Amino acid sequence: MKVIVIGGGPGGYEAAIKAAKLGAQVILIEKDKLGGTCLNRGCIPTKALLASSDILNEIKEAARFGIQIEGEVSENFSDIIERKNKLILQLSKGIEFLLNKNGVRYVKGTGRLLDRRRVEVTADDFKEVMEADRIILATGSIPVCPEIFGYDGKNVITSDEVLSFRKVPDSIIIVGGGVIGCEIGQFLKRMGSEVTIVEMMPHILPLEDTDVAKQLERQFKKEKIRLITGEGISSVRVNGNRVIAGLKDGKELEADVLMVSIGRKPFTQGLGLENAGIRTDKRGMIPVNKKMETCVEGIYAIGDLVASPALAHVASKEGLIAAENAVGGSREVSYHAVPRCVYTDPEIASVGINKAEADQKGICYKIGTFDFRGLGKAQVVNKIQGFVKVLTDEKDRLIGASIVGPSATELLAELTLAVHLGLTAEQVGDVIHPHPSLCEALMEALHDVHGQSIHKV
Ligand code: FAD
Repeated sequence: MKVIVIGGGPGGYEAAIKAAKLGAQVILIEKDKLGGTCLNRGCIPTKALLASSDILNEIKEAARFGIQIEGEVSENFSDIIERKNKLILQLSKGIEFLLNKNGVRYVKGTGRLLDRRRVEVTADDFKEVMEADRIILATGSIPVCPEIFGYDGKNVITSDEVLSFRKVPDSIIIVGGGVIGCEIGQFLKRMGSEVTIVEMMPHILPLEDTDVAKQLERQFKKEKIRLITGEGISSVRVNGNRVIAGLKDGKELEADVLMVSIGRKPFTQGLGLENAGIRTDKRGMIPVNKKMETCVEGIYAIGDLVASPALAHVASKEGLIAAENAVGGSREVSYHAVPRCVYTDPEIASVGINKAEADQKGICYKIGTFDFRGLGKAQVVNKIQGFVKVLTDEKDRLIGASIVGPSATELLAELTLAVHLGLTAEQVGDVIHPHPSLCEALMEALHDVHGQSIHKV
């Protein structure tokens, strides 16, 4: 079985390795850098930068732990960027090593469908036509940047440019208070920028539980990140080296740069979908069935190209499923328990549905909550902000959970497993949790569903 994968992001490279492990002859075509958006312009670089600003913040808080730091603590921005770049390089080499080890032929070039079984690869110095029994499309996404913002890559930018800043801008307007806007906003504020986040919806992180979003809003206000919610940008103009953004209510904002982070769209330009008879929907996504197969038998599409949550771990899962099906399997994807994480301080993580969604769907539910403040471990590490909120259905099964607080993105794993397996609050709450630990907050919230939390006040 010959399989061609187009796109070497987390969806594509994992699909390629999986198909090879299952015995296929695999070619992976990537036009730019292995690891895709996730490794080069997304998950990893943002988290590397946030790790630096977290350390800076921790050091500034050292006195609370009885530690005196002599003199001024400051960041060296170019070293922070350098560290991030080195990490990317190292991880990218790791992917290439894995491809080699698994016998995947990696071709650097741009792939284009010629028909249902043939792909043309073009690079500066060669052009080749390849044939396959199965093709997996994994070309990812690019930022949405409507014309009204006047993107110029200098004053009006997207997250792509922020991640290669050489110096911290004195001021930045961030349009869109979703995950990317919040993570980059907090990082830049902690590096010394004046940050204004403008969000159309009533709260930042509009997809998250409102109480969770409010907790982050309080933290942002404490850090003097300016938040303008329930308001949109109606005009943008660049005057010299300054950007002036007009709000819908007539007021104006001014800054050195404006970053547009209002979403991403699938990248299918030049992919030759029409040659294979594949059409995109009105949002530009490629329709697929639960086996990740497009309307053309033997051609699969995964990751940011399809209408599922645009997350690296979703792309990877879809890649594994597409690979299995490409070599004769019959696996179906489920989005029942997809973890969603925001790596701000405090961190935010959620799975399943939240209260507003349960209300909207008319689902009968119970809620359990627990504040980190009530935990010994949270007090020990001086991370007492935030809470755990769990939702259960009428059979006591966990149907959703939100965490805002220390290590939320790690703690979520236990609740994701519970939602995935349909476990009850009683089953998970009955498990002995280590003491002192942050995961005791999960246990207490699960006990609280039945009014049995020992430490809740
Ligand atoms: P991509 O990662 O976009 O990879 C697609 C690849 O295909 C690219 O390398 C591209 O060069 C290549 N390609 C395109 N066209 C062709 C062609 N014709 N021929 C050959 N190659 C081609 N997700 C998370 O889960 N957690 C996070 O913390 C997170 N943080 C993010 C932060 C930012 C700033 C951004 C922008 C995104 C973040 N994401 C995060 C989202 C995540 O990066 C994407 O969901 C994920 O990368 C999608 O994977 P993919 O494989 O579908 O596509």
